[in-house]
Amino acid sequence: MNITIFGTWYAGLVTGTCLAEVGHDVLCIDVDTRKIESLKKWNIPIYEPGLEELVERNTKSGRLNFSTDAKAGVLHGKAIFNAVGTPPDRENKNKADLSYVKEVAKTFGNYTNEYKVFINKSTVPVGTGKLCQDIIKHEIYKREKNIAFDVVSNPEFLREGTAVKDFLVPDRIVVGTESEKSQKLMHDIYKPLEREEVKILFTDIKSAELIKYAANAFLATKISFINDIANFSEKVWANITDISEWVWLDKRIWKNFLSAGIGYGWSCLPKDVKALVETGKEYDYDFQIIAAADRINEYQKLKVLEILKSQFKTLKWLRVAIWWLAFKPNTDDTRESAAGVVINKLLKKDVACISAYDPIATPHMKQEYLHEKRVSFPEQSYDVVEDADVLLLLTEWDEFRAPDFKKIKKSMKWNLIIDGRNIWDQSIEDEFDLKYISIGR
Ligand code: NAD
Repeated sequence: MNITIFGTWYAGLVTGTCLAEVGHDVLCIDVDTRKIESLKKWNIPIYEPGLEELVERNTKSGRLNFSTDAKAGVLHGKAIFNAVGTPPDRENKNKADLSYVKEVAKTFGNYTNEYKVFINKSTVPVGTGKLCQDIIKHEIYKREKNIAFDVVSNPEFLREGTAVKDFLVPDRIVVGTESEKSQKLMHDIYKPLEREEVKILFTDIKSAELIKYAANAFLATKISFINDIANFSEKVWANITDISEWVWLDKRIWKNFLSAGIGYGWSCLPKDVKALVETGKEYDYDFQIIAAADRINEYQKLKVLEILKSQFKTLKWLRVAIWWLAFKPNTDDTRESAAGVVINKLLKKDVACISAYDPIATPHMKQEYLHEKRVSFPEQSYDVVEDADVLLLLTEWDEFRAPDFKKIKKSMKWNLIIDGRNIWDQSIEDEFDLKYISIGR
């Protein structure tokens, strides 16, 4: 089938490439000329394991193309996926900014010339399907045309770092439709992925929109729940690692997202949790558990600062080393990562300098601190600890689950390590004469 993707970044690029991989003819559109030019040369502007190879193979086969021409995009696809961003609104950070989504709906209404389906792949608040329908109808009406179309909700659940696998072998495919015609079209798109263990769930548009938020809110709640227990565990000198393990061994609970630490970052969880709570308010509904999950996370993100304050009379003149900047391993995405929050707070506290390292996310973060002389980004991981007073571990890359603590001890000026992800062990205190503090242990 001819498919067009609007928004060619983490979600859109993976969606487009994987749909080409299973045989569809895909045109990916983006307003960012640099991204599109680079993609045309098989230069993937994001780090996503396995994606580069798929992009190259499918562009060579002619099934995957890239363009900035919005009109050509609408004319190409029978199915038009809208995968543009829904970041926090600039004025009200708790709300999703729908301006990009609305713009694509407008473009669709402006150029559509025959029956096509407009599919919201972006994470959008409940009711956005109807909003897009109205926008498209209005644009077609302005052209004095009568062209049929359907709007569909098809939220995406892929995780950065394992996005290709998540798309090709998903836990489920959720599709919200309001017509048999669009349901059949969606089935035709996803048939190649359907198998015994991959079910396609057809539902109405609003339920599909809400499923995505419910899933993210539940994951966020699990993380905040265990962090709540971890914070109490510190007060009573208990050990959260033992507690969470023995809790998750109960099959009804399951272990994923039950590790204590400095909270969830990610471009999706924080913004989606806040947006759900805000949407609730619009419908006069008070999400109590989910709002609490968000509150706990806001506190947790600053936990490292709390620990530092408990260890030093003042943070002025402190030399800080940071290991890893992305919001999680295996991605270069630094949106709402703990590192960004911590760096900004430390700078306000007048620390002497911050030296940070990440195997792939450094270029993104560097852009944000181009004019801040106190922040540096050495190319080698161990260079950041040179003369540092404290080392903060903020993301759990496998590469350093067992680092050279002897080398760290030798390089550091003072000897404090704060492990924000609980990946190391208290035993390093005795073994390497380092002071070690983790979360909830
Ligand atoms: P993003 O904001 O990083 O990328 C959006 C892209 O859309 C950008 O490249 C931008 O240039 C482009 N764009 C903006 N306006 C456009 C227009 N009018 N026409 C064409 N392109 C346009 O977003 P993302 O991380 O890829 O996420 C997109 C959506 O998918 C969001 O709603 C997000 O919540 C959801 N989602 C993301 C992930 C993820 O892992 N990143 C996973 C599941 C769902």
